[in-house]
Amino acid sequence: MAKISVVGSINMDVVTYVDNFPQRGQTVFGEKIVEFSGGKGANQAIAVAKQEKEVTLIGCIGEDKHGESMMDVLQTNQVDTTFLKKLPNTDSGKTSIIVEQSAENTIIYVPGANNDLQPAYVRESIQKQSDCEILLIQLETPYDVALAAMQTAREQGIKVVLDPCPAIHVTDELLKYVDLILPNEQEIIDITGEAVKDEKTAQRAVASLKEKGVRSGILKLGGKGLFVFIDDELTFVEAIQVNAVDTVGAGDCFAGAIVSALTDRLSLMEAAKYANAVAALKVTKKGAQIGIPTLEEITAFCE
Ligand code: ATP
Repeated sequence: MAKISVVGSINMDVVTYVDNFPQRGQTVFGEKIVEFSGGKGANQAIAVAKQEKEVTLIGCIGEDKHGESMMDVLQTNQVDTTFLKKLPNTDSGKTSIIVEQSAENTIIYVPGANNDLQPAYVRESIQKQSDCEILLIQLETPYDVALAAMQTAREQGIKVVLDPCPAIHVTDELLKYVDLILPNEQEIIDITGEAVKDEKTAQRAVASLKEKGVRSGILKLGGKGLFVFIDDELTFVEAIQVNAVDTVGAGDCFAGAIVSALTDRLSLMEAAKYANAVAALKVTKKGAQIGIPTLEEITAFCE
């Protein structure tokens, strides 16, 4: 049985590349339309599996062609799909993404089967995993599912790691069950009201999180570095200088690397430095899933 369990979304990203976004009511020619398997749950589970750790993904897909191909990708990447439910007469989750030449994008998310994930099913799936040490979760699945998953983990003595995306779904009730939080720059603002620019603003954001019951976390500031906090200790870690070509999914890769390192008994600070290197390597490669580096690539990069 896996030591890491991920609860989350599985989506097909349908990406259209255009020179410029169409105006309302306008028809434009695009360059190409490409499908990529994605979803934060699937991305994070693959990030863990690429660290050569056993990982289970709990989620829902539809019984359609996208569901089939996403299941294939997960299995090819060695993600345990025992608890991935296939729902008949339901569409798999999809996102429609338009990417402009400027690299700006617009995204429409249609959750489909992800919205049919049930709290009771998630609860039962976690309870069946007697060896599980860490639950890694994000918030693209329904709120009551996330709450049930986190409560069950707490009851079972499993550590809860939350990637609070989208932050609009974060509540004080949810935060009571979080052992480690991994917000990005915008999510920190959404949750704490604090724009982190330096140590002083980071301290204020951390104070707000602590008031809500969260005692450790990593404030991710993209290419600007990150702050790790454990109780009253706050430490800045610089981002690794790389030639970034695609930052989509960097946070998912970071989350997968952190939980993998924690099951290797690294301290949070050591795990954060490791994940910082793994995510830096990811941003040098294109693709939210195929761009996630393997353990071999990470070892070579860190030497
Ligand atoms: P996403 O939502 O796209 O998955 P995120 O917004 O949650 O990502 P970021 O803060 O953008 O997360 O990035 C996560 C981590 O990836 C950073 O903490 C850092 O370690 C690494 N990273 C991101 N951008 C860069 C960069 N330009 N150079 C080096 N490392 C980077």
